[in-house]
Amino acid sequence: MSALAQKQRADLARAISAVENAEGGQEDLIRAGYERFAAMRIVGVTGPPGSGKSTMVDVLSASWAAQGRQTAVIAVDPSSPFSGGAILGDRFRMRRAEERGDIFIRSVAARGHPGGLGAAVPDICIVLAAFGFQRVLIETVGSGQTDVDIKDHADTVVVTLVPGLGDSMQAAKAGIMEIGDIFAVNKADLPGADRVRSDIEAMLHLAYQPLMAPVRASARRLSRGEQMLKMRHGAADGAPAWQPPVVSLSATAAEGVEGLSDAIGQHLAWLEGSGRFVSHRLTMQRAQLGQRVWRELRSRLEERRAGDLDQLTHWATQILSAQASVSDAVSAILDGGEHIQPAKRKAGQEDSRPDGRMKRRLES
Ligand code: GDP
Repeated sequence: MSALAQKQRADLARAISAVENAEGGQEDLIRAGYERFAAMRIVGVTGPPGSGKSTMVDVLSASWAAQGRQTAVIAVDPSSPFSGGAILGDRFRMRRAEERGDIFIRSVAARGHPGGLGAAVPDICIVLAAFGFQRVLIETVGSGQTDVDIKDHADTVVVTLVPGLGDSMQAAKAGIMEIGDIFAVNKADLPGADRVRSDIEAMLHLAYQPLMAPVRASARRLSRGEQMLKMRHGAADGAPAWQPPVVSLSATAAEGVEGLSDAIGQHLAWLEGSGRFVSHRLTMQRAQLGQRVWRELRSRLEERRAGDLDQLTHWATQILSAQASVSDAVSAILDGGEHIQPAKRKAGQEDSRPDGRMKRRLES
């Protein structure tokens, strides 16, 4: 595809900011985005810091762009308050993007979005869809919640592993093993890469064996982790199960990128071929909506809390003097929100206040 015109790049950046900041007037764009969203494919790349995610995303996006696919990258930056990582990363990426000119790159500061990926990524994706992008690569920070969150934002999740980063159980940590649709062993040029690969294959074999075998009535019950895998990758509606492949590559030498790209294509074809794509997008949307509701609720509560310190002081005092339990206080704050003054009651008057309930419970 031809290089993104300077103007289109600027329009796109402006549109993303407008949607992110809820400036209004973007309704047509958002509608167009949802209309085209089903035609766009989103691939998430996660894994430990230093495993070569940026390098991989760089070569992968270049290879898609070379095939004529309109490609964008959303790079979630590890903007810890203690490091200048985001700024450096941003400059590096922007330079790459400018040099190539055919890929749109947007950096998202993880720090600026305490709500995780959900606070920014869905909006960016919708705008990209409106602009006709076909492939989006999301590169996560490589630590913490965003790695697991990626499953709610991507159609295909690539988990990156490398030799030399401790043991090859890296992926088993933080539930990352459960979210991988594809495992990429990067830095295949370094010693130990084969070992990482065979360890992961063995681990996957163990994890997936119960899902691949036909289910018998006498079969043992699946564990929670296995149920998760089954929901994500199990056979359904006559379509076969998906066992995540392990691909080796050397991103710096751009070797093995085709294999990774093919594996991604196969996973997408598996999703589409079984009608799972639609149900997966529904699951994603549900999770994103849930996150949004939760964030909204939290910010409303925070607003209220700031304006109602008296109420918190009241309940904190009640708790400390054993007049109310924490759960009573939480219910009272959430349900009514009225500031209950410890008023004098007439003898015999029923005390319906939560602190009264607690008092009775303590007395009985
Ligand atoms: P990220 O933190 O996961 O995004 O990792 P980066 O892409 O920034 O890469 C971390 C370091 O690993 C950089 O110095 C890369 O040049 C290097 N690297 C990436 N891919 C390879 C590879 O295939 N082989 C080798 N030997 N080094 C690599």
